[in-house]
Amino acid sequence: MPVYKAEAIVIRRVSLGEADRLVTLYTRDRGKIATVAKGARKPRSRFAGRLELFTHLRALLAIGRTLDVVSQIEVVEPHAGIRADLQRMGHAAFIAEITDRATADREAAPELFAALRSALRMASVGDAELAAMWYAAQVLVLTGHGPIVDRCVICGRGVSRGAVFSLALGGALCQADRGRDAQASPASAVALAAMGFLRETQAAALSKLALERRHRDEVAGLLQRYLEYRLETRLKSPSIIQKMV
Ligand SMILES: [Zn+2]
Repeated sequence: MPVYKAEAIVIRRVSLGEADRLVTLYTRDRGKIATVAKGARKPRSRFAGRLELFTHLRALLAIGRTLDVVSQIEVVEPHAGIRADLQRMGHAAFIAEITDRATADREAAPELFAALRSALRMASVGDAELAAMWYAAQVLVLTGHGPIVDRCVICGRGVSRGAVFSLALGGALCQADRGRDAQASPASAVALAAMGFLRETQAAALSKLALERRHRDEVAGLLQRYLEYRLETRLKSPSIIQKMV
């Protein structure tokens, strides 16, 4: 079988048959790839502990008839901090889930890979909640749905008090235009500014964002609902996070 190398992050894992595992990799150069790791669930598998969820790795993959087959693994970064903490795990699960939902098979997006890697690193050793919010904003931008939050999507004027966020129109509506979408939800000026910061900033600069708990919850809620609207899906991970906190 022809083989190829890939730098990748494990975003999904399910059992397959008696001893195998179906592993979804998000690769730097080829986007999302479904692979099979044969014998991975056997106690003495050479993959034991090395194909964990969120692991950043280098793999040698063999091109299979339907699924590519994992041949060799070299762990680059296990992101072990995530698995040591339930809250980190919840936020990282959200990061992995939206990567899976927002991407099609084998569509390369190196910028998305870089954002995913940064987000998981931060989820492992930094502020995991902020990492998840930042990554949600990055996924929206990189899939062409970056929310417009620095001005009204109708009239283009700045927004402040009385503004709302419209899922259907993809951004903020000023007080005068809020009637354009009856479904739009109230959005504070702080939350809109924070969303603007999250979409524009690099992961390394995230610590500059100081948000009170209520504004964090507001931003997280807006980003989650907007992602669900754009991806036309209900996300599983946010409800898990809410049960844990
Ligand atoms: Zn307006």
